[in-house]
Amino acid sequence: MRFVPCPTEDRLNSADQLLLFAEPDWPPDPFDVRVRAEGLYVGCADLYLDARLKVDRCFISHAHTDHACAAHGVTVCTSATARFMRLRLRSGEFDVHPFGRPFPWGDARLTLHPAGHVLGSAQLLVEYGGQRLVYTGDIKLGPSLTCERAKVVPCDVLICESTFGLEKFRFPPVAQARRQIAHLAGELLAADRVPVFLGYSLGRGPELAAILAQAGFEVMVEESIGQHLRVYRELGWFDWPVRPLDPRKARGRVVVTPAGPAAAAIARQVTGAELVYVSGWAMLAGYGRRFGADHAVCLSDHADFDDLLRLAGRTGARKVYVTHGYTRPLRDSLAARGIPSRILNVGAPRRRARSP
Ligand SMILES: [Zn+2]
Repeated sequence: MRFVPCPTEDRLNSADQLLLFAEPDWPPDPFDVRVRAEGLYVGCADLYLDARLKVDRCFISHAHTDHACAAHGVTVCTSATARFMRLRLRSGEFDVHPFGRPFPWGDARLTLHPAGHVLGSAQLLVEYGGQRLVYTGDIKLGPSLTCERAKVVPCDVLICESTFGLEKFRFPPVAQARRQIAHLAGELLAADRVPVFLGYSLGRGPELAAILAQAGFEVMVEESIGQHLRVYRELGWFDWPVRPLDPRKARGRVVVTPAGPAAAAIARQVTGAELVYVSGWAMLAGYGRRFGADHAVCLSDHADFDDLLRLAGRTGARKVYVTHGYTRPLRDSLAARGIPSRILNVGAPRRRARSP
């Protein structure tokens, strides 16, 4: 067993952090993965991963605000993620790389691979000392109309998200969820109601707009979704006709908007509006009512429990760090399958923003 000193300047967030340095079934690796106050850190590359605070050098897996929190000195990411981050953050330098093309980074070699979560979302492969480490960021293995399909990247050490790492989260097939979304939209329109689907500006919103437009509905999108769709179109990922939201003309059409104040305003302005919450969290009874929704459909841009186990197994990783969400249940499920696993507790993001 290799002894790795815990630096005193690091803020360790739970007892799990200490355990991972001491347990004999945890084989050594050369990467020096640790949690610092700023966020997850890979020492061998002197690089933060989705840091919560501003740092000099950071890999950003995707542009959701709970991962892309700050304008770092240098941000390593895909070109799509840089485009989306520039919509919000005006400063910071971007070091943009395409998928699948390795590049040197100090003594390490880095490669970005698709994560299938939202457009531009990337996993990071770190090769160092003859071994391979993969950080997934948020990941989904299933298909999407509006982003690259995730790749399973073989590795020795895996750092994997565990948002839905609990056995009860087994999602229905994507095709079934799409049919359910289209069927619900049709039923509401037939009843002279206005379906208002809730989705983030990046990821869920564009995906819902694509599903509904592809099913033949006339779709209106809220302003921030429209802003992001311009980037989607420029990058060749959205080619369906949608129009900007005009509450006076919403009757007979389907609306897509972020949840929160925008959705509340639409509910007030559009006669007959019925809100539809779409997320993996829709598996929890009544969860959509937190967002004022009348209906809920289970469609996620995260891997479900089975896909998380499948992913860990297919990478061939000898050990797995789990982070975010249901870490403890996923750690135990991996251990039960003979895959050593530890929790990296990076704490809550600066701004609470689930990206289901
Ligand atoms: Zn996300």
